[in-house]
Amino acid sequence: MTAKILDGKNLAEKIKNEIKEVVSGLRNEGIIPGLAVVIVGNDPASRTYVNSKRKDCAEVGIESFEYALDESTSEEELLELIAKLNKDPKVSGILVQLPLPKHINEDAVIFAIDPAKDADCFHPVNVGKLMIGKHEFLPCTPAGVMELIKESGIEVAGKECVVVGRSNIVGKPQSMLLLSQNGTVTICHSKTKNLEEVCKRADILVAAVGRPEFIKGSYIKPGAVVIDVGINRLENKKLVGDVEFSSASEVAGAITPVPGGVGPMTRAMLLVNTIKAAKLQNGRSV
Ligand code: NDP
Repeated sequence: MTAKILDGKNLAEKIKNEIKEVVSGLRNEGIIPGLAVVIVGNDPASRTYVNSKRKDCAEVGIESFEYALDESTSEEELLELIAKLNKDPKVSGILVQLPLPKHINEDAVIFAIDPAKDADCFHPVNVGKLMIGKHEFLPCTPAGVMELIKESGIEVAGKECVVVGRSNIVGKPQSMLLLSQNGTVTICHSKTKNLEEVCKRADILVAAVGRPEFIKGSYIKPGAVVIDVGINRLENKKLVGDVEFSSASEVAGAITPVPGGVGPMTRAMLLVNTIKAAKLQNGRSV
């Protein structure tokens, strides 16, 4: 079997075109969505992500405001900036690029963002709303994964869904989203026994492990939908996912590539959240 490729790049372009229309409509009503992106220090990967976010905003007509702060910025200074952005009416959404330098408490920073401007959907208020199904925002990567699953044509309801990874930004919210669509969800982590067997039960398998090519073809049920969240840079500079694509694509029914799968969808979902924030702040429903 050769799997259908779930092309995240293509789907993200489609979504961006829809966003462009929405932004144009909002601008006609005098609402200009704006995203503030805060980066602290000189981490090259973070810099690349921030540049992409600025480019994405420009493409769809969202204003972007970049705050590039020195590595030595104190937690207090960063919190002061957040407080200022929380009050700025031009700023609909705020994103603080992670990771932050070690001397800054990431939780303190995330908790300081106004939940109504929480473009990443990391604030506990928004995480809680997701838990009880009363959310406005969705976390970008898990939301992008749900769009890719929709694209595969498979109905989540009643399916065995296995999520490998339980981080706060991917694994846990991913599991909640699959549950909210009535999947039967199993969450795996580093202490899970018989991981291969558990994965093999999955009609929908989401890998968010952070280990290059960790999930092999032998872990996959024939015909399953396989979503690879992982982004790992090998020593030879090649980018690979958490799934061994060559063996997995022989067994899966549909699979995301890396690059070109979940990554572009995560970026598109950030734009969706920014628009939602702009609408909410202007008394519109989302
Ligand atoms: P974390 O390191 O926070 O979490 C990794 C998870 O994998 C943990 O829950 C860990 O378990 C689990 N794990 C580690 N080793 C094993 C193992 N041997 N067997 C089973 N489970 C294991 O990573 P993130 O969730 O932040 O990211 C996961 C991957 O996704 C990374 O490659 C990251 O780069 C990528 N990523 C991609 C994005 C995109 O846009 N495409 C966005 C965000 C992340 P335990 O909890 O027990 O330690």
